[in-house]
Amino acid sequence: MQKEFPRIKNFIDGEFVEPVGGKYLDNIEPATGKPYSKVADSGKEDVDLAVAAAEAAFADWSKMPAAERSKILLRIADLIERDLEKLSRAESIDTGKPLSLARSLDIPRASSNFRFFATAILHTENEAHVTDGVAFNYTLRQPRGIAGLISPWNLPLYLLSWKIAPAIAVGNTAIAKPSELTPMTAYLLCEICAEAGLPNGVLNVVHGTGPNVGAAVTAHPKIGTISFTGGTVTGRKVAEACAPLFKKVSLELGGKNPNIIFADADLDAAIAGSVRSSFANQGQVCLCGSRVFVERSVYKTFVDRFIDKASELKLGDPLDEKTEQGAIVSKAQLDKVKFYVDLAKKEGGVTALGGKAPDPINERCCDGYFFPPTVITDLPVSCRTNREEIFGPVVTITPFDNEEEVIGYANDTDYGLASSVWTQNLNRAHRVAERISTGTVWVNCWLVRDLRVPFGGMKASGVGREGGEEALRFFTEPKNVCIAK
Ligand code: NAD
Repeated sequence: MQKEFPRIKNFIDGEFVEPVGGKYLDNIEPATGKPYSKVADSGKEDVDLAVAAAEAAFADWSKMPAAERSKILLRIADLIERDLEKLSRAESIDTGKPLSLARSLDIPRASSNFRFFATAILHTENEAHVTDGVAFNYTLRQPRGIAGLISPWNLPLYLLSWKIAPAIAVGNTAIAKPSELTPMTAYLLCEICAEAGLPNGVLNVVHGTGPNVGAAVTAHPKIGTISFTGGTVTGRKVAEACAPLFKKVSLELGGKNPNIIFADADLDAAIAGSVRSSFANQGQVCLCGSRVFVERSVYKTFVDRFIDKASELKLGDPLDEKTEQGAIVSKAQLDKVKFYVDLAKKEGGVTALGGKAPDPINERCCDGYFFPPTVITDLPVSCRTNREEIFGPVVTITPFDNEEEVIGYANDTDYGLASSVWTQNLNRAHRVAERISTGTVWVNCWLVRDLRVPFGGMKASGVGREGGEEALRFFTEPKNVCIAK
């Protein structure tokens, strides 16, 4: 007899509902390679229903005093914290990431997203401009209506809440489309929102594939704001769909982030930080430093010590508390990682660590999608392996001779999301940070987060910025009211 899997339904107008077409996709657990639930395989009709609910909810929600909206968002944050263990486990099973990482990073950051925007809306200011003796102008910032929020699989609840929280905090209603690969925590968030008293229709979640649901969201004439996080190729499709409809769009896309170690760096900190930035979440964080550049005088020492430390990372069942490296999210993603490891060899690279699938982890995980931390050296900076996003546990390490040269290397990519610079020389830190074309430059750290700072990418890594004030501005429409004197 075929096993009955739990069904992840859509959340529309405050209710969990079947997709109109009645179809479901298998939701695979990456650590086992087997389905463990089903996710709604929705389409345009489901998006239409969500739009109708979001439209009906907008009038009351947008007029609700900010203090009332704030209370509801704070309750959502509290409930995420209450359910930390349940959500962390769900996230680990859905994504393959170590349970300890979901518990320490993803889920706490999701609750802090709600907490931050719940309080931010209590402290906003409007600009006013006095125009000589002629007029007085003030800027009225109003919610824009229905926001379409499309997110990827790598940090599912964290990134989706990063969009939902500011969108609804300022009075929009929303239609969220999580990745079809990792829908579980979005489903649990809907339960939390209902319990927190979020009015029906304010948040609607439609599950399904990008071409069926994502494209219906970007094409819908009543969804005027699109916040998208995902790959650069998909981002281009989203931009193409939105442009003729003059939608307001934010695109957070891929990266090929440089991690630069100068000889004067605190090497202990640089090595520990670089191992983390290379392999956190199996390298599946858009901000991971996948190209490591090391000043030649410390290159050999760095490579040896980096490999020692990376080889200590414990690869295992994501649900095992001791595991530091879990599974890759899908078979397709694992194949992509293997493709690039082979390509690196063809391009002349030397595999200094890892490079092939590990022995089976245990019986439960014998068909899971595992790949060990992999280090490639001796590649030219301009080769494909060094230019294209892999999004897995694979880094290249390259020596450099001087500051000018490494700035050229860092910028020699279409992407511009984030970078790290390790140096004890303050003047150099400022000089290099100014010249690297990335939206974030971390100096002597990685993944430090302050919700008030603008976040986003340059070049093919995206358009627009998320975070604090930028997000509040993105999800509102500024209207100038000019009163004659
Ligand atoms: P993806 O582009 O394949 O999918 C992202 C989302 O878009 C999914 O929900 C998907 O279903 C949807 N989608 C697919 N086709 C669509 C279409 N035609 N129209 C509308 N939506 C569509 O990305 P992914 O594989 O889920 O995620 C990995 C990528 O995300 C990597 O490139 C990574 O760098 C990037 N990422 C960027 C950031 C950032 O902040 N810049 C953060 C996390 C991940």
